[in-house]
Amino acid sequence: MEAITHILTGVILQILSFRLLITPWNYLLTIILAFISHFLIDAVAKITYHTAEPMKDDTFWVIWHIIVILISIIFTIIFINPYWIGILSANFVDIWDWIIIRIIYSKYILTPDKNKSSKIIYIHTFIDKIRERFFSWLPNLNYKKIGILPEIFIISGLLIIIFILK
Ligand SMILES: [Zn+2]
Repeated sequence: MEAITHILTGVILQILSFRLLITPWNYLLTIILAFISHFLIDAVAKITYHTAEPMKDDTFWVIWHIIVILISIIFTIIFINPYWIGILSANFVDIWDWIIIRIIYSKYILTPDKNKSSKIIYIHTFIDKIRERFFSWLPNLNYKKIGILPEIFIISGLLIIIFILK
């Protein structure tokens, strides 16, 4: 799913962890729960509009992603203090797979032989297996524009939960 969903989930899990436990266990619980949440959320992400590749010629795709990026930045600014641990942990898998691993591979490992890129082991490969094993029954809306509705619904629900908890 989109970064917004992971950001808000991280905030909620940090609020709950800090209510449940004292320092330093509240930090530890936040990191563990938020990290795990990424696997669960991405495993059900097929019910949302989420194309595997960028579709820069598609106006709908471009507008949706501009909105998503803007709201992600706004929510990060709003919640970073004091929820940065939850936010960072909930987004860690994306940061690792799509930024750190790609930089490492592009700098040190990739040669002109492009086939080598297929040998990169992403954490998301494991998430794909969880999705196939447990959530194959969910409808696949990854390429359906209507798939933004479940995401908007989930984001709204998470915002309501944060509003209630705070
Ligand atoms: Zn992800």
